[in-house]
Amino acid sequence: MTHNNYTKNILNIKDQNIYFGENCFNIVKINNIDTMVFHGVLTYKPASCPYCGVVNNSNDDIINWGFKKNCKIKIPKISNYNSLVVLDKQRFFCKHCQRTFIAETSLVDYHKQISHNTELSITLDLMNKGSEKDISKRNNVSSCTTNRILHKISQDKIIKNNGILPKKMGIDEFDATKDTISKLAFIIVDQDKKNIFDINNSRLSKDIETLFRRYSKRERDKVELITLDLYEPYYKLMKKLFKKAILVPDRFHIVLQPRNVLDASRIKLCVKSNPNYKKLKKYWKLILKNENELNDKRKFYSKCFKKEVTEKYIVTYLINTDNELKITYNYYQGILNSIDSKDKEKFSNIIHHYNKGISKKLDKVNKTFLRMENYILNALEYDYSNGIVEGTNNLIKQIKHDACGYRKFEHLKARVMLIKGLLNPIISQ
Ligand SMILES: [Zn+2]
Repeated sequence: MTHNNYTKNILNIKDQNIYFGENCFNIVKINNIDTMVFHGVLTYKPASCPYCGVVNNSNDDIINWGFKKNCKIKIPKISNYNSLVVLDKQRFFCKHCQRTFIAETSLVDYHKQISHNTELSITLDLMNKGSEKDISKRNNVSSCTTNRILHKISQDKIIKNNGILPKKMGIDEFDATKDTISKLAFIIVDQDKKNIFDINNSRLSKDIETLFRRYSKRERDKVELITLDLYEPYYKLMKKLFKKAILVPDRFHIVLQPRNVLDASRIKLCVKSNPNYKKLKKYWKLILKNENELNDKRKFYSKCFKKEVTEKYIVTYLINTDNELKITYNYYQGILNSIDSKDKEKFSNIIHHYNKGISKKLDKVNKTFLRMENYILNALEYDYSNGIVEGTNNLIKQIKHDACGYRKFEHLKARVMLIKGLLNPIISQ
């Protein structure tokens, strides 16, 4: 293997027109950092003149005209050293139009200083978790460069779903970027693949409708099941778009409704004039806990009670200090248990025999449950939840946190899709 081929193999440079000599390698301090520098020459016989288009048949057409020296091109790190190719590019002179032009290389785009290999390395890094700041540092480029590459990915590559929707979907909202149309963004997950299907920068009904109407009616009719939270406008919309889909509210979101009311009535009692103020404040977790999981045996000393107590004792004591708290507690526990044990009859019994008037908030929850009863019963029949959506939301939060927030939704989306393996700019190139 010649010296030239050897160097090019190590640097992964495919361009046939770049040549490296015997003494091409140096370690040089750049900004006080040891940098590996490879000095090369770029030259070839141009096929034609880029200005007048004349075909280069002989020295009567185009001739060599010196070099544009020391063009710096960043390449990926070698053994953790910042690395650089310094290229002398051949200059040419066209005798027909009297103009000069410079040799081009596939190593780097015209007027750029980042090699394609570096771009590839940055792209690969963007496909894994980690902040863009770290990625930039690792690849020895500015954060602007990393951002430009992410921007390019977000512009060029649109996820191609071939017009196919998942048979079972989950939908939800999440807090995205400042340029989101509706403050919250919209996410669709594939329940079978347990992965993101798409994210959209608006959760407004009209925008979601547009999003789904891109798919044919035939395709939409194939959707069998959709999980979602208890946000009622979505039900109307999903019924309209997906005629055959079973709508399954997420069980956690069902329980959340009376749970929030219970917590609110506890907080209402947390006023300094209440002698049980400290107890109510300290033991909030026990009040929200499933009563079947409260420990009735193990005694421990409580400073608030000034005696030995059990979990069960604390909760029984506290809910009996206030009528509204007690009724809300019993309602919440009933709903929680019917959902946990998937007991449809129990659930319907509670909501149909509810006595209103004790708390406006609880009345409202029961009204919602009555309106949504048929859907909620689906949740007790089908074993799907929005757990994947919630998990995905956590990933998005982490990505946003690592990046110290994204200003552009498209960038956040590209990054999420890259990390979740749904967008691969390397194989689709
Ligand atoms: Zn010319």
